[in-house]
Amino acid sequence: MPQRIKRLSVFVANQIAAGEVVERPASIAKELIENSLDADAHRIVLTIEQGGVKRIRVVDDGDGIHGDDLALALCPHATSKIEAVEDLEGVATLGFRGEALASIASVSKMTIGTRRADADSGWQIDNVGTDTPQVAPIAHPRGTTVDVSDLFYNTPARRKFLKTERTELAHLNDIVTRLALGRFDVEFEVRQGSSVLHLPTSETDGLRRVAQLLGEGFAGAAVAIDAIHDDLHLHGWVGLPTYSRAQSDHQYFFVNGRSVKDRLVGYAVKQAYRDVLFHGRHPVFVLYLDLDPRQVDVNVHPTKYEVRFRDARMVRDFVFGALNRSLRDLRPGPGAVADVGGAQRGTYIPMRPEYEAPSLQQLLTLSSGAPVREAYVREPVVVPFDAAQHQVPPLGYAVGQLHEIYILAENADGLVVIDMHAAHERITYEKMKSARSATQQVQQQRLLVPVSLSVSPAEAELAQHHGDLLAALGLEIDRGGPASLIVRGVPALLAGSDVGSLVADVLADLAVDGSSDRIRQQEDDLLATMACHASVRAHRRLTIAEMNALLREMETTENAGQCNHGRPTFVVQTLSDLDQRFLRGR
Ligand code: ADP
Ligand code: MG
Repeated sequence: MPQRIKRLSVFVANQIAAGEVVERPASIAKELIENSLDADAHRIVLTIEQGGVKRIRVVDDGDGIHGDDLALALCPHATSKIEAVEDLEGVATLGFRGEALASIASVSKMTIGTRRADADSGWQIDNVGTDTPQVAPIAHPRGTTVDVSDLFYNTPARRKFLKTERTELAHLNDIVTRLALGRFDVEFEVRQGSSVLHLPTSETDGLRRVAQLLGEGFAGAAVAIDAIHDDLHLHGWVGLPTYSRAQSDHQYFFVNGRSVKDRLVGYAVKQAYRDVLFHGRHPVFVLYLDLDPRQVDVNVHPTKYEVRFRDARMVRDFVFGALNRSLRDLRPGPGAVADVGGAQRGTYIPMRPEYEAPSLQQLLTLSSGAPVREAYVREPVVVPFDAAQHQVPPLGYAVGQLHEIYILAENADGLVVIDMHAAHERITYEKMKSARSATQQVQQQRLLVPVSLSVSPAEAELAQHHGDLLAALGLEIDRGGPASLIVRGVPALLAGSDVGSLVADVLADLAVDGSSDRIRQQEDDLLATMACHASVRAHRRLTIAEMNALLREMETTENAGQCNHGRPTFVVQTLSDLDQRFLRGR
């Protein structure tokens, strides 16, 4: 091994730096599109071949690059966006490190063509990344074309790390979605083979683009968020708990227009959904946080996905508070509108058919020349608040029961269908929670005759171990033997329910997430299990008076729009929905 120190050639240094910025085709697309956005482009066209490995081309109509600067643009640490360290304080452009073009050029074959608006001629640079780069005049419309081909041709080891075309397309899909959700004022086009995804500008109707990118299902289940506190402004959309996903893939968060993956914010959102989402389900959201740029440091990582807030705790509390309030306000009501600190309204539309727009992913993987359909976008239905409707309660009056599962009710808008088990479960849960918070302890009713249960030794162990927690929730249980338990008391609200299966449910729950560091969460989970258990089961006949009582309780219960498991508790069929169904012109 040579002992003397040598300086790496610029080219090798760039290749090493490229390891951070150029991970895969999607990271190249990100850097190139961000450059176009920084150049104030209004229209950006991305072309992809073979998952981006063969070619990625970005064409924009932005400011262009000065002919004399073209060679410089490809040098490391060459940027037009900042000059001094102070400029980093409130950086407003997406790029500022001057590394991307140099890095990309070092691991691919790159050509750039460009023309500034005030220039007579366009310029092109070829043979980039070799010893003989050439700059020559060409005809080029205003803007810039960056063409990147044969990715990692000179670094075979890195090429091996690329995944299948399908996987790379999925990453590209994610990047395009992030960038396009960040700029409704810019038109995007993505071309792959003969398939084209066109995203027209949608400044006045952001939800239209959201529907194109995330599907009409989300757009239909989106609650608008708009909250302001001092310098902080949070806006965008969150999905109703009933529209959750098994993965956390549809979660988009922007800080001053920059898409970031922030753990802190992810946590705040999760907390806000805690009570209304079933375990293992993930909310969907597109949220924008705007704040004084000096309050946030974006220069944390080369990919700029992470940011650092000066006052992280305040940001977290603000995001949690805003979302928590709007989710709680989703009670059934006329037009059922969520109010966030009086600042904004979101529309809660319980029942809408889900017309899934073709996802970008689907379009990108389309290889045949099938014509691309415009995504189907429905106008949001906002039911205006009408004083005349005020007489009839929001969920109306019961008219009957269907198959002993649903309650049918008539309100000012039309027909309301209520899932009686789901509704009762939510009410019981909220009641138990408030009973607990009033007394710190759920009120207990002692059983006149203790119930003896045989369980597995592991379950007996579990019940004994969590005796205090269970007691706090109103369940008093003693160990009767190695495999038996004696139940002496149950929560007063649940008196009369089947003790054996109640305890079995609770123990099953404890077994699944038995860590005791999350007591409060665990208590809520157990309360939810008990509530579910004790609620009117389907197949029970209710009198009209009982049904109306349930409806009135729903109207005054927080979160009554969905059961504890995130399923809706009721849906509305308006008269005009019905009229349409019967082809009845009015
Ligand atoms: P950075 O974006 O951090 O400045 P890059 O390596 O991505 O660094 O780009 C270097 C410079 O090249 C930019 O500062 C900009 O002046 C110029 N540039 C790159 N892409 C474009 C583009 N599409 N339109 C106009 N100028 C561009
Ligand atoms: Mg850049």
